[in-house]
Amino acid sequence: MGAQQVAERFAELYGAEPEGVWAAPGRVNLIGEHTDYNDGFVMPFALPHQALAAVSRRADGLLRLHSADVEGGIVERRLDDLAPQSDESWTAYPAGVVWALREAGHAITGADVHLSSTVPTGAGLSSSAALEVVIALALDDLYGLGLRRWKLARLCQRAENVYVGAPTGIMDQTASACCEQGHALFLDTRDLSQQQIPFDLAAEGLRLLVVDTRVEHAHSGGEYGKRRAGCEKGAALLGVDALRDVPHAGLDAALARLGDDEEVVRLVRHVVTEDHRVERVVGLLRSGETRAIGPVLTEGHASLRDDFRISCPELDLVVDTALAAGALGARMTGGGFGGSAIVLAEATDVDNLSKAVEEAFAAAGYTAPRVFEAVPSAGARRLR
Ligand code: ADP
Ligand code: MG
Repeated sequence: MGAQQVAERFAELYGAEPEGVWAAPGRVNLIGEHTDYNDGFVMPFALPHQALAAVSRRADGLLRLHSADVEGGIVERRLDDLAPQSDESWTAYPAGVVWALREAGHAITGADVHLSSTVPTGAGLSSSAALEVVIALALDDLYGLGLRRWKLARLCQRAENVYVGAPTGIMDQTASACCEQGHALFLDTRDLSQQQIPFDLAAEGLRLLVVDTRVEHAHSGGEYGKRRAGCEKGAALLGVDALRDVPHAGLDAALARLGDDEEVVRLVRHVVTEDHRVERVVGLLRSGETRAIGPVLTEGHASLRDDFRISCPELDLVVDTALAAGALGARMTGGGFGGSAIVLAEATDVDNLSKAVEEAFAAAGYTAPRVFEAVPSAGARRLR
């Protein structure tokens, strides 16, 4: 599926060529899980999988939406009727972006949209952010808004938090909007400062596999909210604005101050050690020690499994099987309770590893996983 095809379908649907075609990728998070709502560090990179949107402006206050990936025809909404949490279908993501732009004072007068995406949905790879960012970028271009990429990501996050009603951090939208090919994005979620860290796996004879367990995660579910509330409680007990402010060197002392609230101790320990793991990975990649990030990724998995307690048997099986078959490192990625795991391996081991994971899933009676290679790819951009 390419820009040409999306433009042609747009023309069939709406009777005229689109004004342009834009792309925005899904992402995978290399390290830095559940740190983004604690003002901490994350390190995503963009996938080759992306959402494409063919878009034209309208002047009559109508938004018309169509997705190649969803049953049903064109959905038509009046801009003046857009309201938070008024829509439980997929159209809430693009409509939410239009709402957020208008709320921020941008004079959007309507649009025709045709979307098509290769980002797997509900696999923790941020198909939702890809959808939001591709629409935001298209409207930014067409309406000449001149939004900076970080600002565009903020508006998309607002669309997802307020309009859709899913309490997510800023990582996904920033990754889709700001990542660069051959790099991972080291993002400080407190001030949104970012650095592109070279992450060219192929040049080093390495591969990174994504294993989608096909277990559907539920982001807005109660478990996410509980973890988030627990982190906020930990920060309050420690007298800091956010857990980001607890230095890794002072972790033991901080945990001692939390006393016998075992759950808060575990959550705080995960967040503080996870921020530190991001900094370790950045340091290793900067000094060209890419293989050495493997054990740090694996430590991250243990922390999410044992301290944050958001793994599941399928994710643990991927990690254990991959490590036993010679992977350099492996961990669950994304919000947890399903979704995907990542595996860092020598290029020469990839076939064996994939086979081992597939066989382990079959032996356990689980649905066959979807395994693919993640090549650090370009962020959102105009295609034509
Ligand atoms: P994730 O972002 O991890 O893939 P979410 O639950 O946040 O999972 O977002 C998935 C939702 O995004 C889908 O249920 C659907 O509503 C919407 N979505 C994603 N891709 C498309 C698409 N190509 N067409 C229409 N809706 C899509
Ligand atoms: Mg999402």
